[in-house]
This record gives sequence, structure tokens and C-alpha cells, in this order.
Amino acid sequence: MSEPKILILGAPGAGKGTQSDRIAETFDVEHVTTGDALRANKEMDIGYLDLKYDTPGEYMDRGELVPDEVVNEIVKTALDDADGYVLDGYPRNLDQAEYLDEITDLDVVLYLEVSEEELLQRLTGRRVDPETGENYHVEFDMPDDEDVRERLVQREDDTEDVARERIRVYEDNTAPVVERYEESGELVRIDGERPPDGVWEDVRATIEEAS
Ligand code: AMP
Repeated sequence: MSEPKILILGAPGAGKGTQSDRIAETFDVEHVTTGDALRANKEMDIGYLDLKYDTPGEYMDRGELVPDEVVNEIVKTALDDADGYVLDGYPRNLDQAEYLDEITDLDVVLYLEVSEEELLQRLTGRRVDPETGENYHVEFDMPDDEDVRERLVQREDDTEDVARERIRVYEDNTAPVVERYEESGELVRIDGERPPDGVWEDVRATIEEAS
């Protein structure tokens, strides 16, 4: 395999972003993440599509899924431009999974398994450095630098109410996607409830085995 095409699945807070950054660096592939792409375009005018809301941000701040029309387009453009990639945050429902099948072939499908209680704790304690985009956690991982500590912010969708809604939306929409890849025999389950280094050992070994 030249440049691997990797899909990473898991609930919000499962550690997909952290592991994807390491994958991108180690295996020299593009990190394609719909969450970041949409956050950078929260105010984009999608009023012409005549949907429930006129911007992606209005869906995101409520923990709802941004409509497929918008997200599929972002993913198609990003994958067309990449040789190898790690795709994170997509597909989030069965229609998106079908669309993905039409536009690409995957080499590895990883699933990070984390309990609901742990997910909630990770999401509500997460803080982001607005200057670097780096994630921290109020209990487990605060930066040493006081200036960085002071400028940390909470994502608008990491408040407890919205985080709970995101987990519910995940259970309703994305859990069937996990089942689909399980049934096709492609899914590799990884215990995501450990610190990032332990998870990384399994992630790396799985991709190397498939290469
Ligand atoms: P994330 O950073 O992956 O947790 O995504 C944050 C938010 O972006 C989600 O709660 C959704 O509102 C939106 N979003 C990200 N990826 C998708 C997707 N594949 N389909 C629909 N909405 C998405």
C-alpha cells in the first residue's frame, strides 16, 4: 500500500482528533476532519439550500448534525486532493457512509471504544487554546505555561447539555455506521479508554499490519 486511506470512528470525545494527528504525522497522510472544516466555516451562508438553519454554526451549537449536502461536498473536495488520508468525524450517518463508498476505497477502519461516562467527562473538561488549536483538559492535562492556561476557552458545544445531546445524536445516527463496518468485516476495535500513548500503540500497529 502506498499512502494508506484510513477511517477513524468513535463517539465525540473518543480521541479521534488526537490519534488522527499522530497518524497524519507518522504515516505522512492528510488529516481530513469535518469538525474542524465546519468550525472554520460556521458562518458560511447555506441559506440557498433552504434547510432548517442558514449556517453550519446553528446546527453545531445545538449538537445537531450539519446536513449531508454541506458535509459531503467538503469531504469529496478534501479526499480528491489527498493521496492518503485519515478521515475523522465522517461518516456520521448511514447515508454519508454510502456516499463515502461511492467516492473512495478504504484500507483501514478503526473504531475507538470509550464508555459514555468517560466521554462526558472528557468533553466537558476539554479546553482549547484558540491560538494553536491544541486541546487540553482541566483535570488531566493543563499546560505549564501560565499565558496559555489563561487564554484557554471551552468549545461552545462542549457544555454539559450540548455534549449530552451530541452523544445522543451519535448513538442514534453513527452507531449504525459502526455496525455497518463491523458487518462488512472491516472494523478494528481499539480500547480508547486508556491514555493517548497506549491507544496509539494499537492504532499504529493496526495500520502497519494493514500496510
Ligand atoms: P466534531 O468536532 O467532530 O465533534 O464535530 C463538531 C460538530 O460539527 C458536530 O457536532 C456536528 O454539528 C458537525 N459535524 C462534524 N462532522 C459532521 C458530519 N460528518 N456530519 C454532520 N455534522 C458534522
